[in-house]
Amino acid sequence: PIFRNAQFEISIAKPSGLPPPNGPEIAFAGRSNAGKSSAINTLAGHVRLAYVSKTPGRTQLINFFRLNSGALLVDLPGYGYAAVPEKVRRDWQGLIETYLRERESLVGLVLMMDSRHPMTALDRQMIGWFAPSGRPIHVLLTKSDKLSRGPANATLLEVRKAVAEFGPHVTVQLFSSLKKTGVEECERVVAGWLGL
Ligand code: GDP
Repeated sequence: PIFRNAQFEISIAKPSGLPPPNGPEIAFAGRSNAGKSSAINTLAGHVRLAYVSKTPGRTQLINFFRLNSGALLVDLPGYGYAAVPEKVRRDWQGLIETYLRERESLVGLVLMMDSRHPMTALDRQMIGWFAPSGRPIHVLLTKSDKLSRGPANATLLEVRKAVAEFGPHVTVQLFSSLKKTGVEECERVVAGWLGL
């Protein structure tokens, strides 16, 4: 359970606030309302480590949490929330892009997508910013409890096919915070990135 006992370390609002690299980082990203906060809380076994928002798009900071192994879980701001001013949206995107493109201590990206509408244009943009680094991306198709087995598996296959164009280092699984499905698979993948 590599995400257990995660401890909050620091929040930053601008690329210039990024702390000097101090341990391997695992970033979590996703459209606002994709279920990112719920997934982080489920993986961490913590009810409120990441703030589950009533208002989508509430997380506007990059939050760093220290894991037992010494690695960091990095919670990126949710993207794509329409009801914020264009300027604010561009600032968040800029923060995420800078972090994904330039952060040398970032070893892998966990990307949350709602299993009912995966691979939006913004999701592709995130993959496009990070995949060229050659470092791994693991997609969690969230809220999989909202789909029955057939459609869930069909979505899994479709998304696997869609990400193949970015390279073999992009992997995909189903995930539900509600049913706690996919927790061990996600832990195994990220533990592999960290050599644990
Ligand atoms: P974030 O904006 O990406 O951090 O998304 P949240 O974690 O705040 O979740 C957005 C909404 O989806 C909330 O109403 C959650 O209760 C709901 N949600 C999150 N995960 C699941 C899940 O696994 N199953 C179901 N049915 N709902 C979920």
